[in-house]
Amino acid sequence: MDPARAVFLAVAFATHAFLGYALVRSLTAANPRLGVLFGLLPDADFLFPAALEWPFVHRGLSHSPFALLVFVVGALVVRDRTTALAVALAYGSHLLLDSLSPAGIQWLFPLRTTWSPGLSIHTVIDTPVLWAGCLVLLAWRTDALDPLLARLPVDSDRLGVG
Ligand SMILES: [Zn+2]
Repeated sequence: MDPARAVFLAVAFATHAFLGYALVRSLTAANPRLGVLFGLLPDADFLFPAALEWPFVHRGLSHSPFALLVFVVGALVVRDRTTALAVALAYGSHLLLDSLSPAGIQWLFPLRTTWSPGLSIHTVIDTPVLWAGCLVLLAWRTDALDPLLARLPVDSDRLGVG
C-alpha cells in the first residue's frame, strides 16, 4: 500500500474511533468502548473480498442509514436504550463525517447516489479541528480529561479539577 494512503487511513480510523468514543463517553452512560467499536464498524467493509459487488463494497451497505437502523434496533432488542443511543451516536457520526467527503455515503440506499458536498475531511486542517472538538466535548461533559488538566502549569482549582 502507498505510504501516504496508509497514513490517511490510519488518521481516518483514529478520527472515527475518537469521535465515537467522545460522543458515547460524553453523552451516554454506556461503555465508551462501544463508541470506538461502532465508530469504526462501517469501515469493516474494507475487509469485504474484492470479488464482491455492490452493495458489498467500500461505502456501500455499511455506509447507509439501513445499516445504522439495523444496528440500533439490534442494540435495542439485545441490550437497552442506552446501548442503542451509543450505537446511534458512534455509527451515525461515522456516516455523517463520511457523507461530507467527496465520495459521500449511500443516504438513499438501496438507491446508489454519488452526491456529496465534497468537503475534504481527514486533512491536516480538518483532523486537528475534529480532535479538538472531541477534547472540548470530553472536557465539558466528563471527567475524562481531569488527569491531563491536572498536569497543566495553571491553578487546577480555577479549572475545577484536581
Ligand atoms: Zn467510512
